Amino acid sequence: MRIVGVGEEDTEDREEIYVGELSLFQSDLFLCVLFFSNCLLVSQLFINNEWHESCSGRKIPVYNPATEEMLCEVEEADAEDVDKAVRSARAAFQMGSPWRSMDASDRGHLLNRLAELVERDRLLLATLEAMNSGKVFLMAYFVDLMATIKTLRYYGGWADKIHGKTIPVDGEYFTYTRHEPIGVCGQIIPWNFPIMMFVWKIAPALCCGNTVVIKPAEQTPLSALHMAALIKEAGFPPGVVNVVPGYGQTAGSAISHHMDIDKVAFTGSTAVGKLIQKAAGDSNLKRVTLELGGKNPNIVFADCDLEYAVEQAHSGLFFNQGQCCLAGSRVFVERPIYEEFVIRSVERARSKVLGNPLLPGVDQGPQIDQKQFDKIMELIESGKREGATLECGGSAWGQQGLFIQPTVFSNVTDDMRIAKEEIFGPVQQIMCFRSIHEVIQRANSTHYGLAAGVFTNNIDKALTVSSALQAGMVWVNCYNAMSAQCPFGGFKMSGNGRELGEYALREYTEVKAVTIKISQKNS
Ligand code: ADP
Repeated sequence: MRIVGVGEEDTEDREEIYVGELSLFQSDLFLCVLFFSNCLLVSQLFINNEWHESCSGRKIPVYNPATEEMLCEVEEADAEDVDKAVRSARAAFQMGSPWRSMDASDRGHLLNRLAELVERDRLLLATLEAMNSGKVFLMAYFVDLMATIKTLRYYGGWADKIHGKTIPVDGEYFTYTRHEPIGVCGQIIPWNFPIMMFVWKIAPALCCGNTVVIKPAEQTPLSALHMAALIKEAGFPPGVVNVVPGYGQTAGSAISHHMDIDKVAFTGSTAVGKLIQKAAGDSNLKRVTLELGGKNPNIVFADCDLEYAVEQAHSGLFFNQGQCCLAGSRVFVERPIYEEFVIRSVERARSKVLGNPLLPGVDQGPQIDQKQFDKIMELIESGKREGATLECGGSAWGQQGLFIQPTVFSNVTDDMRIAKEEIFGPVQQIMCFRSIHEVIQRANSTHYGLAAGVFTNNIDKALTVSSALQAGMVWVNCYNAMSAQCPFGGFKMSGNGRELGEYALREYTEVKAVTIKISQKNS
């Protein structure tokens, strides 16, 4: 089997997986054994490399959004448990601890060892992701797990290459800088890419020598708990990573307000991002990085390759059931090709196969929970009310599970709620534009600034638009093309700081300048 990269053709290999490993999934019994053997092992809080019951005795029910059935319960962390986890992370960070005394290359080795274990358990982890988050199994297996493994390896490679500098100063002194770990990092992650977000957070933090208290989203704790087991198996010292599933207003808030957490990294909604930043200000001014929402423009010029642009705009929005901060949810199409683009986009949306995300052939699963489902349906209703043309979809799908029909709106204007608010669902807005200056102004007319796409065969247009767009990531003639090496993050209210790539190292290190007086003057 081959690992498939962004944009690579992979149909044959996917078929192979179906015929080989995936055919096992047709046995319900196998699924049950797979699932419950895992749950028995890892449904508790992971603190100091041990499994703990929660102090309150409360548990979180965990659901499968495709069936709305409860899969299992996991221990629910609250402030007291977070405190325990922070004490363990602090102890692991003390000078002289095994973690602090470790050769940096050994930190890299541990991250690589973890990558190997994820590779070993890839099938199990992809299954957990599909069952717990409603993600299409093949997407979990090929996209999320591949990104997870590559990110671990990427930061494994960085661990022993984080250098300071020597600085030329007055000859009586010698000055150098050290890039030191910040300390205990609190990390709060969302439910849309549970394992990928887990690794995007822990890998750069660990590579720089920090310790971690991480809270997965309450909806999707299972892959994070399995990762905790792998972290122990890989040989990370106790306390280096602590995993505390819990709710946002309790465990999440305890992390953001904690006086002994040195940095908090958050991915989630802009509303909660503001609370995190405020909590940092109200407590110990911990460092804050935020990866928040987006209402991303995808600009399609008339000179593009139309069929390809339709496909890219489609996957740029419908990927992961539209539950993606990067979703290209404002598709601006130039006047001469507008009608044709809408017809083809509707055809493409209608061709989607909805169903249980574990089944072969399905390419759209359910939304994560009732709250998100209701929010998406409410926004669809607002689109109809405000006068957009509903081209297809617009309703719930099926008898069971939180499915929404792939939905396309045309004749959308910038003042409509569906053009302004992040929908986080399978709902595509297609707007019309007439000039390059108009589209740049409209694309930037939002508080968000995460990502953007441009489709054109004219290099001048591509360069003009990509320079003018206020977004952390701009894709030209592609969408969602990402890698562990590339910085990820947003302008404006889409966030603060960058994840991935070399840039993430800055977010997990403090720079210390050491100046030494030289007593023997050089003659
Ligand atoms: P969504 O609305 O998509 O669920 P959220 O921003 O609410 O996104 O959640 C993302 C993560 O933030 C989850 O882990 C959630 O538990 C956590 N969270 C929610 N509210 C808070 C809060 N007040 N403080 C800290 N974390 C929170």
